[in-house]
Amino acid sequence: MGGTIDPTDFCIPLSSMSDIIHLLPDSVANQIAAGEVIQRPSSCLKELVENSLDAGASHIRVIVRDAGRTLLQVVDDGKGMSPTDARMAFERHATSKISQASDLFQLRTMGFRGEALASICAVAHVEIQTRRADDEVGTRLEIAGSEVLSQEMVQCPVGTNMRVKNLFYNVPARRKFLKTNQTELRNLITEYNRIVLVNPQVQFTFVSDDEIISDLTPSTLKQRIEAVFGHSSKSYTSHLVDVATETELIRISGFVGKPETTGKNSQQYMFVNGRYMRHAYFHKALMTAYSGMLLPDHTPSYFLYFDIDPEAIDVNIHPTKTEIKFADEQAIFQILLAAIKESLGKFNVAPSLDFTTESHMDFPSRPTSTTTIAAPSIQIDPQYNPFKSHPAHTTTPPAEWEQLYTQKESKLPTITEDLFQEPETIEYTSLFQLDNRYILAPTTAGLIMIHQHRAHVCVLHKIVLEQLNNQQAATQPLLFPEIIELSQDDLTTLEQLLPELQNVGFGLEQFSPFAYSITAVPALLGQKNAADAILQVIHRVQDTEGTAQHQWQEMVALSLAEQMAIPQGKVLSEPEMRDLVERLQQASSSRHLPNGQTISIILSHEDIQKRF
Ligand code: ADP
Ligand code: MG
Repeated sequence: MGGTIDPTDFCIPLSSMSDIIHLLPDSVANQIAAGEVIQRPSSCLKELVENSLDAGASHIRVIVRDAGRTLLQVVDDGKGMSPTDARMAFERHATSKISQASDLFQLRTMGFRGEALASICAVAHVEIQTRRADDEVGTRLEIAGSEVLSQEMVQCPVGTNMRVKNLFYNVPARRKFLKTNQTELRNLITEYNRIVLVNPQVQFTFVSDDEIISDLTPSTLKQRIEAVFGHSSKSYTSHLVDVATETELIRISGFVGKPETTGKNSQQYMFVNGRYMRHAYFHKALMTAYSGMLLPDHTPSYFLYFDIDPEAIDVNIHPTKTEIKFADEQAIFQILLAAIKESLGKFNVAPSLDFTTESHMDFPSRPTSTTTIAAPSIQIDPQYNPFKSHPAHTTTPPAEWEQLYTQKESKLPTITEDLFQEPETIEYTSLFQLDNRYILAPTTAGLIMIHQHRAHVCVLHKIVLEQLNNQQAATQPLLFPEIIELSQDDLTTLEQLLPELQNVGFGLEQFSPFAYSITAVPALLGQKNAADAILQVIHRVQDTEGTAQHQWQEMVALSLAEQMAIPQGKVLSEPEMRDLVERLQQASSSRHLPNGQTISIILSHEDIQKRF
């Protein structure tokens, strides 16, 4: 491209036979930069659509073929470009959006680096047609591998039409790391949703392989959320309550879900100044506002929009720009917490847990209204400490998340529970399964009811912990290493957890600044997706912030065990049940998992008698 350095500009020759340092040609430098900015079709979609928004478009069409592999086209009716700008736009660091460093602190546009188009044209065939409203004719430009192939005048509508074809045609390694079309299409839609949900005034259309999969007219925010997540038969936004607060520092608006609707379709979105962001600390504020109202492992829906002086944030920290640093995070934490608590209170969103609406729930259901027996009250052991194997923890008050579990347990249908001293003798000949979820059996103490998933978690947890302690986990090398891409937060956590993950059998090597390559997995993991498994571990550790380092091992073990354990709802044969119960008895005499969840309960002979 035009930007390459001409050696004749220099008085002395740039290189001689003995020199070994030389400047990379632009095409190569751009390809390297593209590795950061354009990781997959969805990153390309994001960059192109953001450019259209920055150009003031009111209708943006996205057209993809083969999930963006063969074609990813973005057509807008924005302000278009002059012939010179169209050519300039593909140079690295060419941008119309900032011109000096101080502009970085006043950002109101999505783009500012001037890297995206240069990166895209380094790794794809790009064709652009663009025209400004005042120009008679437009410009058509074809570029491949950073090489301008043609430039001509054309008749075309006002706006910009960008066709990116054969993405990564010249980077086989990148192409190989793309997932199935189904997964890449899902990634495209995820990225698309992150944009449409914060630009409701803009019309968007998404066409995949000639099928319109989304057509969104300009609307209010609430209508946009409904249009994205609602179904004709079921309203989505009726489960949301408004959030609105304004202080000198920040304005926060949007919606959060009622606590009882944290099911499968629960969605989490946070935006700042029109930009999607992930923010673990603000997520925590939100979870704190809901404490005591949610089922274990459930997250409420939220759509939160932050407006803040651009000077108070720094978006310049990650190439894909979803992690955002705020100058005053603690104050915002408090403002957010108060705003959400107020919304939940104002709309009288009492913590009414309706267990019956959730079909996939890993939780006992409430007794039906026909149950007229006065239930005996549960006795929670206040001394119970999920991390009792770690003496350091016994003197500190239980972490928030532990309290959460304890509170929830107290809402359960109540059965007298005594922590067992002697392991009871179970009659293995009369095991049976209830609701494909619980294993029931007579025992010397009464009737035992065992949560099958948690029982298995308990067994596996012990195995993983033993392997961790002995540093002898069975590991299985991967024939084709899997790449795990990480946000800044996730990367930090991963790097802290590396010793634990390696001890448990993961092989991990740094692949790029924001990606690791997974070369081996714990044998126990079987066919499970390795990257997913690691992400779950990372998020578990993040969600239980404040966990001391000595507890990470426990967390890693527990998270992996949870992922590998048989699910609730699985039909078990009699030998399977017997095997599980036997192994549970060998593994632990406790009725709880280390996170406080109940594994089994006993209905004593006495209790049974009382009920008659
Ligand atoms: P950035 O968005 O960071 O400025 P890009 O490489 O994405 O960098 O784009 C380079 C420049 O090309 C932009 O600054 C803008 O001037 C111009 N441009 C890109 N896409 C469009 C578009 N759809 N409409 C008008 N101008 C565009
Ligand atoms: Mg851009």
